[in-house]
Amino acid sequence: MKEINVPSLQAALLNVSRLIVEKEAFLTELDNIVGDGDHGTGMRDGFKELSETALLEEYSSIYDLVYASGVSLVKTMGGASGVIFGTLFIGGRNAFLDEEGNKMSFAAVSELKSFFRQSADSIAKRGRAKPNDRTMLDALLHAVEAMEAYAGDDVAGLLYEGWQGAQRGVEATKQMLPRMGRTKNFRDVALGHPDPGACSTAFIFQGLYESLADTNC
Ligand code: ADP
Ligand code: MG
Repeated sequence: MKEINVPSLQAALLNVSRLIVEKEAFLTELDNIVGDGDHGTGMRDGFKELSETALLEEYSSIYDLVYASGVSLVKTMGGASGVIFGTLFIGGRNAFLDEEGNKMSFAAVSELKSFFRQSADSIAKRGRAKPNDRTMLDALLHAVEAMEAYAGDDVAGLLYEGWQGAQRGVEATKQMLPRMGRTKNFRDVALGHPDPGACSTAFIFQGLYESLADTNC
């Protein structure tokens, strides 16, 4: 698949929502070890609401679809992680404007690379986390780098690289001491366990990839 359009992105985001809801207990367990235990329920609430409201609307562009999805997450999840995961969808939306500034109804590999790079930049700017601070950004930056290194033109292939990159980021967080947010109170117990937000980020790429891979016969 060389381009992703509104219905395929919508289906892919529904699959992401299903996966995140399914992983609630796993994410809660991780945030219990290292944080305050609310990451699983926060993500579940956000993505359940997303799948039941914004993802059921009709969109004429992928720009509007990612924007509405991000706004829905920010509103439902609230707090810092709502802004962070909302920004994952909102922060890169300008990648889906064409040269005349029109909202695009489909995206190819190059726009998707630019979308995720801008999302990561936007999250870093808002949350002020640096690489190796043990946050979701460690998974996202690995994903972005892996996608930027992808030389093919297949959207599912690109997202597969993103997923694999995110998973390498998740593995790397096991060796990182938390510095950002509430997790700073749990520094030593964190070692050996992955960051929950990094895991969520890998699930987002997994959900996108698996949905798009399915549509390839
Ligand atoms: P809270 O930290 O408010 O309890 P969650 O438990 O839902 O929120 O989310 C925790 C996750 O948020 C962490 O695992 C980490 O990945 C991510 N996170 C925390 N602070 C930042 C930040 N400044 N930038 C990026 N991600 C962050
Ligand atoms: Mg938490």
